[in-house]
Amino acid sequence: MADSQQTLKLRRLQDMNLRGARVLARVDYNVPLKDGGVADDTRIRETLPTLRHLLDVGAKVTLVAHLGRPSGKPNPKYSLKPVAERLGQLLKTRVHFASDCVGPEAHTVSAQLGSGELALLENLRFHPEEESNGGGFAQELSRHGEFFVQDAFGALHRAHASTAGVPKYLPGCIGLLVQKELEFLDRVIGNPQRPFLAILGGAKVSDKIGVMRRLVERIDTLVVGGGMAYTFLAAQNVEIGKSLLEKASIPDAKSIIEKAYNRGVECLLPADHVTVGELKDDCAAKITSGMAISPDQIGADIGPRSIEIFSQVISDSKTIFWNGPMGVFEMEPFARGSVAVAKAVARATGKGAVSIVGGGDSLALLNKAKVADKVTHCSTGGGASLEFLEGRVLPGLLALSQ
Ligand code: AMP
Repeated sequence: MADSQQTLKLRRLQDMNLRGARVLARVDYNVPLKDGGVADDTRIRETLPTLRHLLDVGAKVTLVAHLGRPSGKPNPKYSLKPVAERLGQLLKTRVHFASDCVGPEAHTVSAQLGSGELALLENLRFHPEEESNGGGFAQELSRHGEFFVQDAFGALHRAHASTAGVPKYLPGCIGLLVQKELEFLDRVIGNPQRPFLAILGGAKVSDKIGVMRRLVERIDTLVVGGGMAYTFLAAQNVEIGKSLLEKASIPDAKSIIEKAYNRGVECLLPADHVTVGELKDDCAAKITSGMAISPDQIGADIGPRSIEIFSQVISDSKTIFWNGPMGVFEMEPFARGSVAVAKAVARATGKGAVSIVGGGDSLALLNKAKVADKVTHCSTGGGASLEFLEGRVLPGLLALSQ
C-alpha cells in the first residue's frame, strides 16, 4: 500500500472464516433520494459483492450506515427505509429493518437474524454520538455482532463511532469494496503508466490543495478547471472579473504552479471561459477570447478552446485521475465543459488509459454523459479518495490495522 498507508496491516474479508457468524457491517448508503425512493443506487450496488459473500457463508448480517446530515436528531427525511427496500430488490431477499440503530428494537432485530439473513438499521447520524464517537455509542453498536466488516469507503476519512470506534470492541476486516477502492488508488499513486494526468476542478482550492501538492510530485500534467481555476489565474495576475476567488489560497496556488514548473510538470489552466453577468440559467452567456474575464463577468464554465486543449491532453494520457467539475454543471448552459471532459476521459479509457474518477459531482457527470461504465474505476468516496491520495492515514483504516 502507498506511503503512509503502507504501515497499515489490514485483514481482508476473503481471509476470514465467518461461517454462521454474527457480523456487523458498516456500509456507505449515503444515496440521493427522490419522491420517497432511491434516485441513484450506485453506492448500494457497490456493496453487493461483500453482502453476497457474507450471506453465502451463512453469516447473520446487521448493516449500519448514515444518510445526509440530520444533525444528530431523528428526521424522517433522512430515513434509510427506502434504502432497505431497494437493497431487498437488488439482493432478491428480505431485508429486516429497525427504526433505530441502537436500543431494544435494534438489538432484538439483530439478535433474531438467522443464518444468511440481513438487517439494515436506521441512520447512525440520528445520534450525535456517531459523529462525536462518544458516550459508549461505538460499544453499543458493537453488540450487534461478533465480527466487524468495514465496507464504507466513503466514510473512512471520518473518525466516527462506526469507523474509528467499533474496531476497539470487535475484531474486523475490510470488505470487498474498500479493497477495490484501495487497489485502484494504490495503482494511481504507486506505479502509474505515463503520461500521468490529474484533472482537478470544483469550487474550493483549499479542499484540494493537499492532494495537488502530493500529486504534482508524481504526475506529468496537471489540468485545473472549475471555480478553483480562477484563484490559479489570479495568482498569475490574470483578470478574473467577478469569478470565484479564494484570496487566502493565492499563495498555495502560486506554490503549486512553481512546484509544477520546477518538476517539469505541465500545468494547464483554462484558455477561455463561458461567462455571465449573474449566475442564472437564462442569463446571456458570453465566450471570452482569451484567459482574461472582464470586470462585470463571472466565469461559469471552461470555453471551447479549453475543451479542445484539455481533450487533447486527456487523449494523450495513459493514467488519468479526475476529481471535480469544470463549471457550474448543475445549470445546463454551464455543463458543456464538464461533459466534454467526461467524454474525453471515457474515450481515452477506450484506447487503453487507466482512469480513476472520484467525487459525487464527477460521477454525476459521467452519468449525464452516459459514460459511467466506460472509465476504469469510479470511486464511491470523493473526500476519502482525496485524503488517501494526499497520503493521510484514514482513521477508519487505522482503527482496523493489526
Ligand atoms: P467541489 O465540492 O469543491 O468539488 O465543488 C463542486 C461545485 O463546484 C459544484 O457545485 C459546481 O457548481 C461548482 N463550480 C464549478 N465551477 C464553478 C465556477 N466556475 N464558479 C462557481 N462554482 C463552480
